[in-house]
Amino acid sequence: MLQIRDLVKIYPGPVAALKGVSLDIPQGLFGLLGPNGAGKSTLMNILSGLLEPTGGSVTLDGVDIVKDPRAVWSRLGYLPQDFGFYPSLNGAQMLDFLLRLKGVDAPQGRKQLVAELLERVNLTEAAKRKVKTYSGGMRQRLGIAQAIAGNPRLVIVDEPTAGLDPEERQRFYRILAELGRDRIVLLSTHIVEDIATLCPRFAVIRGGRCVTSGSTSEARNRLEGRVAEGIITPEKLEEIRRSHRVTQAVLVEGSMFRTRVQGQPGSQPTGFVQVPPTLEDVYFGVMDESRADDAARATNAA
Ligand code: ADP
Repeated sequence: MLQIRDLVKIYPGPVAALKGVSLDIPQGLFGLLGPNGAGKSTLMNILSGLLEPTGGSVTLDGVDIVKDPRAVWSRLGYLPQDFGFYPSLNGAQMLDFLLRLKGVDAPQGRKQLVAELLERVNLTEAAKRKVKTYSGGMRQRLGIAQAIAGNPRLVIVDEPTAGLDPEERQRFYRILAELGRDRIVLLSTHIVEDIATLCPRFAVIRGGRCVTSGSTSEARNRLEGRVAEGIITPEKLEEIRRSHRVTQAVLVEGSMFRTRVQGQPGSQPTGFVQVPPTLEDVYFGVMDESRADDAARATNAA
């Protein structure tokens, strides 16, 4: 279990990037969602022992990793957003180099370990190819190979599917799902679909605060009967905004809006049909409530 308590990070400026985040993250895949600037990377960097928090605590299976970041390094695999590669090396050489940097033990020999890891991420056939000829998805898989070397208890992946084509994304999902069977895998992303596909539990952060957390399916079930959708003109959208809570309006074919509203069952605008709630509905609903809370707080303060 990864336990985060009252985590605060204030950068010089001052910029309050985390304003007291508490989360319990059990074994398995856990998704961390939030818009750009929410504080996700700051949180990831603290959890990986790269950044010191201003306040609060983080424990991994009872060990305090803020006080003793070294204690987590040997039990942590990290795939950062921008993973540095030496494009002139081939895949196997690159991985070998990264394992040496990481100081991973390989009782059976590093060559053997490299081969096993490449097999695990389906890169055996490309082992001798230069990394510069790899696709984005192959690079990400090579990044995962180094992250899981040494069998870490906690694997952190930051925005792993950005820039992957749909097929590569599916392949990457399968690797992450397998990893989540026997360790904590923390997936930070602004892509809701990644979390919906992979994570039984999730949290949303916004403006440095955790605005919701818990079971993905329970969050979806809570919206059952409350989401409706219609495809409407921009003028109609403006009208509906005045009477309903519009959580999503996506342009279709350049002129109409696929619009989703949330509200009491049966209260949808004429022409709208009730639809099964998705995790996107949960996310947009939570973001909307959180913005409304901010606005109410600002009004009260004025
Ligand atoms: P996310 O990963 O969710 O996009 P970040 O953790 O990168 O969010 O950033 C959270 C907030 O902290 C943003 O307002 C960002 O501008 C700010 N921030 C991030 N890193 C620094 C830094 N090194 N110095 C000052 N402000 C920073």
